[in-house]
Amino acid sequence: MTNNRKENSFIDLHIHTKASDGTFSPTEMVEYAKSKNVVAVAITDHDTVAGIEEGLIAGKEMGIEVIPGIEFSTEIDDISFHIVGLFVDHKDKTLLELTDQIQNSRHNRAKMIIEKVNALNVGPEITLQEVEEVASGLIGRPHIASIMIEKGYATKMDEVFEKFLVRGGPCYVPRFKLKPQEAVSILAKMNAISILAHPGFIPIGYNFDEFLEDLKKFGLAGIEVIYPTHSPDQRKFFRKLAKKFDLLESGGSDCHGELSGGPYIGRTKITYQYLQKMKDRFGKK
Ligand SMILES: [Zn+2]
Ligand SMILES: [Zn+2]
Repeated sequence: MTNNRKENSFIDLHIHTKASDGTFSPTEMVEYAKSKNVVAVAITDHDTVAGIEEGLIAGKEMGIEVIPGIEFSTEIDDISFHIVGLFVDHKDKTLLELTDQIQNSRHNRAKMIIEKVNALNVGPEITLQEVEEVASGLIGRPHIASIMIEKGYATKMDEVFEKFLVRGGPCYVPRFKLKPQEAVSILAKMNAISILAHPGFIPIGYNFDEFLEDLKKFGLAGIEVIYPTHSPDQRKFFRKLAKKFDLLESGGSDCHGELSGGPYIGRTKITYQYLQKMKDRFGKK
């Protein structure tokens, strides 16, 4: 492939697999990317790097560039911020300790929610085992909710959340959350590239200038400008911020496989040039 052709090829720097809440295995995801002529993909599962090894092997076999990544859920003052890390060292001890800690806290949280549900005594008992059976990767509130629906606590997802699981509800248990600064620092320490993901979800009127200036001090490298739900105006706005703070522009589909309407790898048009710029700045091959 000539350089020029590579530059114009499509890539996708934000994808989930079965290792978190996607429906494709890492291998299936790479196969799908190949079928859509996407030449480079980043595996960015929520708070885990468990899918990376399989993805790297599949990528090598199929001639697709696989970038090891992660997506951290972080929070300050009840506002949630997702930080995508690219070029992570998926064998780094500190990273694995952190992902284990997050995993355990999810598990404990699920246990505590289930205890609260059972203590209410308003329906049949539910067990952790039942919930674990429906959760293929990371365990979360939707898995508990689906068992509750099965057992007649409510008829719809919204209703279970509203009645029991919502923040402030009778069975709510807060979650262990990193701060975005912490996620960015951990990534910076391993020379990974940290990206503020889907900034379009951050409430309108948020003080982005102050926030980005602060995160840059911790090593923030980029901002996800190209995202399926970003309007042309939002793209323009975030592109301007990227320029202002000398941040790299990133983009991806946030594909979760067949969840929420289908596989989206390749639907968000982002060219290899974006990845090349990242590699140039961070000395990555
Ligand atoms: Zn996200
Ligand atoms: Zn995501």
